Amino acid sequence: MIDETKPVLVTGATGYVAGRLVEKLLKEGITVHAAVRTPDNKEKTKYLDELAEKLPGSIKYFKADLLDEGSFDEGMNGCELVFHTASPFTRDIDDPQKDLVDPAKKGTRNVLEGANRTESVKRVVVTSSCAAIYGDGKDVLSMPNQELTEEIWNTSSSLDHQPYSFSKAEAEREAWKMVEEQNRWDLVTVNPSFVLGPGINPYGTSESFAIIKQMGKGDFKMGSPEFNIGCVDVRDLAEAHFQAGMKPEAKGRYIVSGENSGFGQLAGMIKEQYPNYPISSRKLPKFLMWLMAPSVGMTRKEVKLNIGYPWKANNSKSIKELGMNYRPLKDTVTEFFGQLIDAGEIEKK
Ligand code: NDP
Repeated sequence: MIDETKPVLVTGATGYVAGRLVEKLLKEGITVHAAVRTPDNKEKTKYLDELAEKLPGSIKYFKADLLDEGSFDEGMNGCELVFHTASPFTRDIDDPQKDLVDPAKKGTRNVLEGANRTESVKRVVVTSSCAAIYGDGKDVLSMPNQELTEEIWNTSSSLDHQPYSFSKAEAEREAWKMVEEQNRWDLVTVNPSFVLGPGINPYGTSESFAIIKQMGKGDFKMGSPEFNIGCVDVRDLAEAHFQAGMKPEAKGRYIVSGENSGFGQLAGMIKEQYPNYPISSRKLPKFLMWLMAPSVGMTRKEVKLNIGYPWKANNSKSIKELGMNYRPLKDTVTEFFGQLIDAGEIEKK
């Protein structure tokens, strides 16, 4: 049982996913130790500070970098529970090893070595991803029942192909390896599908913002690629993290995914609520996507292995054991789109 009067560490606290998790912890009256790269950057911390001002809990910042060994130890001191959310989620990279895999894998090792040194730590919750379960849409076809489950691991990604997914699989494997090497703390991983919905900071840089902004800009006016994915609301994901941390019986991996969906469905949901925007849910032919691939930041191999495949994840473990009650995706997407309009990130029409 985690003692809620003790502080809780959140790594990457200024991130999109972490923002809603910190909010949840503050609502519960918990003292949050926020490990961030730039605690002096008020532009980044102000959204968390505003929450701490109005909610019962409190927040204290600690400077830490995934690649700076031992830098999480100070913030971890006295914590029984650690949420490790920090990991780069971007397509904007030069060197996949340096920009993605090192911070993900060495960073996880760094945080967990900190847990090994910190006597108070009882549980670590690592934010992994469905990307640690599958690499390409085509992989799902060969899964039992053609669905993602917690038993499956991504074996198709590499440094050269889907390096972000590779970074997540490598980091999660490292975590499961390290938990076996000691017996004081236990490990729970949360494996979300694509995260959407209003964050505490409407100017987030997570890839989650990119696709919705592209829809607002008109990039989907000719149609939507048949790119199927699962989606989860960022606020539901915060709840899943909280339960994974606090429930003594939580164990293993948890797929956290509200609905099986796709770009076409997301486009349709936005168009229905915001008819003035040039968005079409009409299916773009795969050959057209193949031709356009380099200009939309995809490789032809990614198009070949990801467009036109069904996507299904089994989220029953999260419902049964974490008590998840997922909100409708339509609410998530339209509220997110609305937030980005209000913030000026999407032009008002
Ligand atoms: P963000 O980019 O918003 O958050 C990533 C966080 O990691 C930021 O706080 C960032 O710090 C921090 N970070 C990156 N590099 C370093 C570093 N070298 N040292 C310290 N901190 C670092 O993305 P998300 O919130 O979307 O992602 C959070 C987690 O959720 C990640 O583990 C991601 O893989 C996972 N995830 C996300 C999904 C999604 O759809 N968004 C889906 C599945 C999993 P800073 O604020 O300083 O940039």
